[in-house]
Amino acid sequence: MDGQRSFSYVLPSRRALGAQDFTARIIPVRSKEIIVDPQLIIVAGREKSLLRRHPWIFSGAVATVKGRPASGQTVEVLGQNGQWLARASYSPKSQIMGRVWTFDAGEAVDEEFFLRRILQSASRRNDFESSSNALRLVHSESDGLPGLILDRYSGVLVFQLLTAGMEFWRKAIIDALRRLFPADAILERSDVEVRAKEGLPARVELVHGAIPELVEIHENGVKYLVDVHGGHKTGSYLDQRDSRLAVGRAAGGREVLNCFSYTGGFGLAALGGGAAHVTQLDASAPALALAERNRELNGFAAGSMDTVCGDAFQILRNWHKEGRTFDLIVLDPPKFVDSKASLNRACRGYKDVNLCALRLLAPGGRLFTFSCSGLMEDGLFQKIVADAALDAGRSGRIIRRLTQAGDHPVSLVFPEGAYLKGLEVLVE
Ligand code: SAH
Repeated sequence: MDGQRSFSYVLPSRRALGAQDFTARIIPVRSKEIIVDPQLIIVAGREKSLLRRHPWIFSGAVATVKGRPASGQTVEVLGQNGQWLARASYSPKSQIMGRVWTFDAGEAVDEEFFLRRILQSASRRNDFESSSNALRLVHSESDGLPGLILDRYSGVLVFQLLTAGMEFWRKAIIDALRRLFPADAILERSDVEVRAKEGLPARVELVHGAIPELVEIHENGVKYLVDVHGGHKTGSYLDQRDSRLAVGRAAGGREVLNCFSYTGGFGLAALGGGAAHVTQLDASAPALALAERNRELNGFAAGSMDTVCGDAFQILRNWHKEGRTFDLIVLDPPKFVDSKASLNRACRGYKDVNLCALRLLAPGGRLFTFSCSGLMEDGLFQKIVADAALDAGRSGRIIRRLTQAGDHPVSLVFPEGAYLKGLEVLVE
């Protein structure tokens, strides 16, 4: 067990944190005359999802906004009959107008709230099997902190604030991180598109300590350099950890293609698992350059890995014409769907790329195929892969279903938290 991963910080009790005081503060809310905190009044019938503890309040579910809350401010959420439902953050610019902080009327939303929730979230991961020194510590809604992502790469914390509510509490979050992880450097990577929907600008800021250009981590015996300053997400795809392990275990002696490789993750795991040779294919030259540095870092022979830069759709077609084959192909494309309107187009993209890959697989080969689009449901994705196999004239069997690693949990009340799906298919 990596000692750095235990969190033993002792928090003051809830009472000492002011919960009692706050209960007293909200009692007048129900008397209607005195508004202590701004309120969202929910449309009759639309409180059902809140009663099921779903954390999102869509603007269409809000009948009235009372008390002129500022962007990100905490609001009391009430039903038409004055029933207290939740305490939430207010996002005036977003379709998701409220995100619930707590369903407990006695729980104050203050600095200690964030300290407590971050600690709980990190502690939840204490008994995770330790195969890596890189871990997601907070996974937004699914860890009770809507809009906060916190990843730890060795001694470097990288966080993202995705919502107006999290932006409002930025200082509290930084203070909590400094207290809970005093030895760690801290980087903010709030340069994500969703912030625009909340009316928030992008921000990248070194908050504490010094961070090298590339941070070295290890996972299942393989080392990776992570560009926390400018790489995708917070620097890497921690969510694919379990699937990298599965690929590594299946790769022994095989000719592997890692399509949409980014900085080489799956391909390096394959080399770690004894692959005969890996081809890393991506449209980004800098990502492939980092894949090459990662190969060197691990001492894998130069001849064991090629990088190919270009458009996967085109290159796979060319290789098919040339009769090239692989024993194992990983297909982990970027998110093709970002709205319901783009789902049809995305389905065609997924089908096309799976078809191209299936045609390149040698008999008995394996396809590891993924979709990281939350809007793409498991059943639909399986059908797309099945259709692609039919068109490619191949038959196959799913031998394993793959999903995001456990440090990217899915709260039972928040099914939207499940976004990554994959299939390991044995192809004839
Ligand atoms: N599998 C990676 C993550 C993939 S992210 C990992 O586990 O780390 C998606 C990648 O697809 C990005 O690196 C992006 O550069 C690449 N990409 C996007 N469109 C592409 C295209 N048409 N052809 C090849 N690569 C593409």
